[in-house]
Amino acid sequence: MSRRPFVAGNWKMHKTAPEAAAFVRAFAGKVPEGVDVAVCPPFTALAAAVEAARRTEVAVYAQNMHQAEKGAFTGEVSAGMLLDAGVDGVLIGHSERRQFFGETDEGVNEKALRAHAAGLRVILAVGETAEEREAALTEIVLERQVRAGLDGLSAKQVAATTIAYEPVWAIGTGLTATPEIAQAAHAFIRGLVEGAHGVAERVRIQYGGSVKPDNAAELFARPDIDGGLIGGASLDPADLAAIASAAAG
Ligand code: PEP
Repeated sequence: MSRRPFVAGNWKMHKTAPEAAAFVRAFAGKVPEGVDVAVCPPFTALAAAVEAARRTEVAVYAQNMHQAEKGAFTGEVSAGMLLDAGVDGVLIGHSERRQFFGETDEGVNEKALRAHAAGLRVILAVGETAEEREAALTEIVLERQVRAGLDGLSAKQVAATTIAYEPVWAIGTGLTATPEIAQAAHAFIRGLVEGAHGVAERVRIQYGGSVKPDNAAELFARPDIDGGLIGGASLDPADLAAIASAAAG
């Protein structure tokens, strides 16, 4: 089965609402055929991005959400609030959330369950640190994160989940994984999804970690790499469009 590639830009803590709207207007005109695209603005710019993305091919995802439906969780945002803002989906389990905000596999799983139940699309991010790779723990870490993250989802929900393989050592460092390293991890993750849920051929697995316009094509040419989750290079509409073109083939 051929999977439609998917390129998403994670803006992290960048861009005001007017900047987000201007980006989406500039980017929408450059989106090639044959690839799904999304941007992940910060919460305060979601509504402006959604408005600018109306009647375009650009989907808008949040960078995080809380797993509870509502309650006394100061500073947090629920799945229902994201839907209310008009967003299409949510990024869950990014390594910066795991590293700097104490997110656990269990919490990531609760978020995935809640997001799917609410009807949001989900990108689930997983990946090993440099220390884990050096200690030959990559597959153990990926297995734990993927199994836990998808636990309790129906086969249909798993198939509709995008998994982003993001080696932590490659994020924001300029140290892109080689296509061989990335392909091996993607094939391993696809095998896990097949074993646990039987939908490996349908699930899209993005690569993330210092993807740029000049290295995207060789990564996306690998059979199990279905596009990318892009940080730094997603802040410029021309760069993100060039990366989306590389994914479209
Ligand atoms: C990310 O944060 O998801 C990411 C892949 O960042 P960068 O492309 O900057 O490495």
